[in-house]
Amino acid sequence: MLEWISRFMSGRYGFDRLGQALAILSAICMIFAGLFGSKVMTAIAYIAAIWCIYRILSKKIVYRVNENRKFNELCAKTSAFMKRDRKTYRYFRCTRCKKTIKVPKGRGKIMIVCPHCRNEFIKKT
Ligand SMILES: [Zn+2]
Repeated sequence: MLEWISRFMSGRYGFDRLGQALAILSAICMIFAGLFGSKVMTAIAYIAAIWCIYRILSKKIVYRVNENRKFNELCAKTSAFMKRDRKTYRYFRCTRCKKTIKVPKGRGKIMIVCPHCRNEFIKKT
């Protein structure tokens, strides 16, 4: 049996962080669907479960690795955004290169020089 499973799974992608997230999403939606009888939740639970299984069994490993990398990048960006210190800093976008710049709060109107492209602009902190 184990040998059959390992032969079946060889060359297939398997489980990763996105797969984990999909499995958890599916389980949570299933619980909510059960509690509130929501058809939308049931649909999301099925879609997430099917997508998760599809990814595990997929042989297009390059695509799956890329999906997982994009998902990890999105997670990192989201967590960096959530961890922003809004009490002591203000965040501005450079008017030229659009990168985010962190500036201490409560300094009044100041000239900000972008550390990436040296663009200067005035903002109230
Ligand atoms: Zn800039």
